[in-house]
Amino acid sequence: MILISACLCGVDCRYSGDSKSNEKIYSLLMDGNVQLVCPEQLGGLPTPRHPAEICQGTSEDVIKGSGKVLNNQGEDVTKHFIKGAEETLKIAKTLGCNKAILKSRSPSCGCGNVYSGNFDGTLVEGNGVTAQLLMENGIEVLTEEDI
Ligand code: SF4
Repeated sequence: MILISACLCGVDCRYSGDSKSNEKIYSLLMDGNVQLVCPEQLGGLPTPRHPAEICQGTSEDVIKGSGKVLNNQGEDVTKHFIKGAEETLKIAKTLGCNKAILKSRSPSCGCGNVYSGNFDGTLVEGNGVTAQLLMENGIEVLTEEDI
């Protein structure tokens, strides 16, 4: 069983209220043994919503309680990102998932690079909060760009 970011398979769960469908990932869904997840919705955020970035510290810091995720209105949405990561991990453990393919660059799902926290489109090395928590629990995380 593989966890996949729902927005990669046509679910309109992105902050902007649309999806980011990816043909290759969608064909994996059709092959079966896939669980779709949207950590930000699982964390209780509405759709559409204001875009958010990790603005203080890294995703490791967010999980440890010292980092912050803010939206572009300056509102602190950290607790939603942590809740979404925890719920996603719960689903992964329940289903015995050992691999996840998550949306690149997202503050929840990104792996390897995420937006800098300045809301200017620049990237920094790092992971989204959910991707980080999954990796800390032994789950392999890839992005659609690795497939
Ligand atoms: S990148 Fe992750 S959190 Fe964002 S919409 Fe897609 S599945 Fe949801």
